[in-house]
Amino acid sequence: MTNVSDAQRIILEQARLLDSEPLAMMAAHGRVLAEDVVANEDIPPFDNSSMDGYAVRTAETMQAGSVLSVIGEIAAGSEFLPAIQSRTAVRIMTGAPIPPGADAVVELEAVAVKNGSIVLSGPVAAGRNVRRKGEDIRAGEVAVKAGTRLSAVHLGVLASLGVHRVRVVRKPRVALLTTGNELVEVHEKPKPGQIRNSNAYTLWGLAAEAGGEPVRLGVVRDNVDDLRRALQPGLDAEVLITSGGVSVGAHDYVLTVLKQLGVEIKFWKVNIKPGMPMVFGVYERERGSRRTLVFGLPGNPVSTMVTFLQFVRPALLTMTGQPAFPSIRLKARLLSDVLKRDGKRHFVRGVLRQEGDGLVVETTGTQSSGALSSMARANCFIILPEEARDQKAGVQVHVELWPL
Ligand code: AMP
Ligand code: MG
Repeated sequence: MTNVSDAQRIILEQARLLDSEPLAMMAAHGRVLAEDVVANEDIPPFDNSSMDGYAVRTAETMQAGSVLSVIGEIAAGSEFLPAIQSRTAVRIMTGAPIPPGADAVVELEAVAVKNGSIVLSGPVAAGRNVRRKGEDIRAGEVAVKAGTRLSAVHLGVLASLGVHRVRVVRKPRVALLTTGNELVEVHEKPKPGQIRNSNAYTLWGLAAEAGGEPVRLGVVRDNVDDLRRALQPGLDAEVLITSGGVSVGAHDYVLTVLKQLGVEIKFWKVNIKPGMPMVFGVYERERGSRRTLVFGLPGNPVSTMVTFLQFVRPALLTMTGQPAFPSIRLKARLLSDVLKRDGKRHFVRGVLRQEGDGLVVETTGTQSSGALSSMARANCFIILPEEARDQKAGVQVHVELWPL
């Protein structure tokens, strides 16, 4: 059996960064930037006011009660800027350019207005309420780094720089095949002994959330010929995921068929709970210039999710140029006893919350690998390392917070 950390390392050794494509900005939302975007302008592009007030020359504001006559007004977007001369001020709005001669803005609230003049209540420091050209971003600086998954704020930063087209990493295609004689589709009524195919949907969501392009290959029955036929097209994708049929049951043929199809098996069985029987292999296509990472995940719905999150997702993140393990790991006080009698690494579904100024975590109850609803209630994994055994309420445990 392969340890979790070894399995993760073996997988990441096989994951290659995909090539990139240009996209218009809104289409690039949620995609990963393939190259640094360097600013070719300063942001803000000119000194401007951060308040509605009066632009002044601070040398003339030294005494309380200084009187300055107001000689004009500058709105945001104004091109004409009245220059400040001796003992004058200009009314200015937020975002408007600072006029020549001025070096600060006194906010409206800090002055008294009398007969077209303002009376200051005290000295004004140079630079007050002035946003300097380039104080946010300097021309020549990297504004958004390669490997950034573009969210709303990044679109805003790019827009402020006039960038409306970016190179993003291509989405890895993730082919999904669910196996099992017992499975029926979501709109079908299960006969006795049958269950609905939930993994097709959790996997579809997981692949999409991890930045992949899910491609459904459907459901296949547990026999070698059907399995071979159904798996074949999946070998064209960057990632192929199967669910079920990788254990040691009489009808578990996934491993056999993957080998028949030329997939080089890197490991089978991981020292993890849930998810032990997972298999990982690599298929070289186009004469070895491209490869398909093949993950045979166990069929129990929670095992499928845990193994996806711990093994497939890091590969997808690496293929798109992102850090493989971005999740936040914390320590929290365990609120309930947890049994652990083996040397596997356990991923226990937990609910993490704040209590006073500390963090506490409790399990979601049953840890059956079939109980998907307990996964739906959780917001974290409690991670119990290989060497750990029974945990008593009150101890500190490691927690991996979702979204991972
Ligand atoms: P297997 O890994 O094929 O031995 O399946 C383990 C358990 O997971 C069995 O109880 C299966 O019925 C269940 N299972 C397998 N595939 C799916 C699926 N696609 N959706 C929901 N449950 C599944
Ligand atoms: Mg099965």
